[in-house]
Amino acid sequence: MLGTEALAVAVIAISLAYSQALVSRDWLNFGILAAGATVHIQLTQRQEERRRNRKKTVLIDLTAVWTFSAAMILPVPLTLLVIVVVRIQHWFIARRPAHNFIFSSITHGFAAVLAHLTYTALGPHFLGTGWGDFLAEFGAIVLTAAIYEAIQICYVGGALALGMSSEPTLRNVLGSPADNMLEAITVGLGAVTAILLAVVPPMVVVMAVATVVFNRLAELDQLQNDVRTDPKTGILNMRGWSESAQRALERTARSSDQLALLMVDLDHFKWINDTYGHPAGDDVLRTVAQTLDEVTRPSDLVGRFGGEEFLILLPDIDEEATWDAAERIRVAIAKLHIVTTDKRGDPATIADRTTSIGVARHPRHGDTLDRLLQSADAAVYLAKENGRDQVCFAPDTLTPPAAP
Ligand code: GH3
Ligand code: MG
Ligand code: MG
Repeated sequence: MLGTEALAVAVIAISLAYSQALVSRDWLNFGILAAGATVHIQLTQRQEERRRNRKKTVLIDLTAVWTFSAAMILPVPLTLLVIVVVRIQHWFIARRPAHNFIFSSITHGFAAVLAHLTYTALGPHFLGTGWGDFLAEFGAIVLTAAIYEAIQICYVGGALALGMSSEPTLRNVLGSPADNMLEAITVGLGAVTAILLAVVPPMVVVMAVATVVFNRLAELDQLQNDVRTDPKTGILNMRGWSESAQRALERTARSSDQLALLMVDLDHFKWINDTYGHPAGDDVLRTVAQTLDEVTRPSDLVGRFGGEEFLILLPDIDEEATWDAAERIRVAIAKLHIVTTDKRGDPATIADRTTSIGVARHPRHGDTLDRLLQSADAAVYLAKENGRDQVCFAPDTLTPPAAP
């Protein structure tokens, strides 16, 4: 890490030493970008704090709109000065550990300097008048953006992979497709800002407003996700599950396929809370939710119905496979060894938990989601009455297939 930082600092220092003299137009452009960035940061400060608190993996830096355009259009010293202006304001918003902050500031500087060197090497810019010139300019911008992005990804990915935060999965390092889309648009807006600055500088005011709106849209995407997710377990909540289940049901009805609904109720869950405390109960819920996710197919819908009840919709499945899936879930939960803490905070392991699972099938037990839920619920009660730790089909079933 220190080696790569030293390299970055060396490149920044050398390009500073060799940068051309500043002219007054550079200072004007710098002033406009610094002002735009300040408006953007100050008007989205609260939102940005919320966004940062939520994110567990890479965080897309929306101020790249300003830093990327600086890299394209300003000489190195002023590009770095824009980054300093942005970073100082971030310092007061993000309040991260100093070494993290310095590391990412150097990364920003390094990415911007390399992008700047690339772009100027591909110049001169904005002089052409034909389509060939336009496409060449477009290509130069895309290449510059790619280098800017590659440096950020390598550095951030390297830092994550070296254990500065959570485990380095590909998704953690590279971010989700939505994150990458956001990043690409941010850099694209940066390029537009640079073009405006070269041609009609006052139009950058529009970009300042656009970035504030854009920040809101970025948050909207996360809120949409949150609305569908159960915060405790991370799986779908009832709202998200019902919406998706309804769509799956409609697809099934059209294709005359079959479909199964499982309601999974943990046995004597209250006992866990009473014995080990509610935080231990929560650990069990989280682990069970994760297990349900793991032992089902990607096309199955796993959601939390409420308390200690979970729902699983299995599209396109016959009766025997339904029984197998339900049994597999029952056994998987029974095998769990959940490491947690007891009421005094001492380590405790919760194991040998049993589950009652109620099964309803479409179309036999109903053709609406409500009817299926009622049937699955009735089946859970049947399982409880029969002594728990078992799978039961909904009451009006003819004869459930024998357990394998
Ligand atoms: P049964 O075998 O009949 O299903 O018994 P049970 O104890 O599992 O069922 P009961 O409905 O009597 O109790 C459910 C308990 O689940 C009561 C409630 O306090 C607890 N619970 C509900 N939501 C949560 C939660 O989010 N976290 C924790 N720790 N407990 C929860
Ligand atoms: Mg219950
Ligand atoms: Mg229960």
